[in-house]
Amino acid sequence: MLTVNGINVYYGAIHAIKDVSFHVDEGEIVTLIGANGAGKTTILHTISGLLRAKTGEIKFQNQSINKIEPHEILKMGIAHVPEGRRIFAQMTVLENLQMGAYTRNNKEETNNMIEMVFEKFPRLKERINQLAGTMSGGEQQMLAIGRALMSKPKLLLMDEPSMGLAPILVQEIFNIIQEINAAGTTILLVEQNANMALSIANRAYVLETGKVVLEGNAKELLGNENVRKAYLG
Ligand code: ATP
Repeated sequence: MLTVNGINVYYGAIHAIKDVSFHVDEGEIVTLIGANGAGKTTILHTISGLLRAKTGEIKFQNQSINKIEPHEILKMGIAHVPEGRRIFAQMTVLENLQMGAYTRNNKEETNNMIEMVFEKFPRLKERINQLAGTMSGGEQQMLAIGRALMSKPKLLLMDEPSMGLAPILVQEIFNIIQEINAAGTTILLVEQNANMALSIANRAYVLETGKVVLEGNAKELLGNENVRKAYLG
């Protein structure tokens, strides 16, 4: 479904992503793990079109997307749940969800999608008219995920959804990720919480200073001595 082939990404003179290749097949949960600054966020931004690869290619459903505008990439079926959630703090829950459907102009479909999100996240329904910025971190993460689902993505890019959440909420968010996957959405998950990410993923890639240093079956990596030492504490 997604093929990333030898991409190189720079911030000015800084070579942040070095010849990275990986793929995500339809129906999978694939995780990119690695320490702070390894390049995980940069890779997701490059897939979404917010950053550009200098060389290399990204293909989604056999179509090259490296030169396509971010809103077109969203329309093609790739939605992004950004790091730190980035919900619209001064808008209500409902308005945030409506923003997530901006690539569609069918009101009935938008309302159906909002109902679907409320079924998955009853807590958001209770807070439908609350300003998003006044909600807890976990609720904001649910809203960020709900907003991304509004575009009915085929592939969901998730950047550190567990960041800053209490352990019980982390578990809830990871359960939700599995449910979304089971309902047919493919997931590329970036996490520092390697333990949790590997426990729900099919496959994983380990990044170090902008390079893929290890890849494999997630369960196998969970049992890998070097991975345990470096990332699982
Ligand atoms: P984190 O979990 O902290 O977000 P990450 O693995 O997602 O880490 P990136 O944020 O992608 O890592 O950063 C990869 C590298 O690129 C780091 O060396 C970082 O310092 C550098 N970098 C990231 N953003 C910029 C920027 N806007 N300008 C210059 N360098 C940047």
